[in-house]
Amino acid sequence: MNPNFETINYDETTLNHGGYGATLFDPRWKARRKEILERDHHTCVICQSKIKLQVHHRQYQFSRTLNVFNNPWEYTDSLMITLCNTCHQKGHNLYKVPIKYIK
Ligand SMILES: [Zn+2]
Ligand SMILES: [Zn+2]
Repeated sequence: MNPNFETINYDETTLNHGGYGATLFDPRWKARRKEILERDHHTCVICQSKIKLQVHHRQYQFSRTLNVFNNPWEYTDSLMITLCNTCHQKGHNLYKVPIKYIK
């Protein structure tokens, strides 16, 4: 079992993630994404590829108070990893991302 995808039960590519699609163009996400890519040396953490990189969320957080998902840039570093397009697709086909409910 791939530790980056364990206990996954939610899929960012099929669920809208509270407007997740549009927020991917948000400058705050672009900046956060760049930080993660730089941390991972612009390399897929699974296969070491350096092309078609994407940032994957290992967990989604849903605020019960606000009744929305966190914005994609509102996660700590440890919950985001750099994957190439191929490993990302494979991971999402095999596993789903767990949702953590927060206040
Ligand atoms: Zn890869
Ligand atoms: Zn993902």
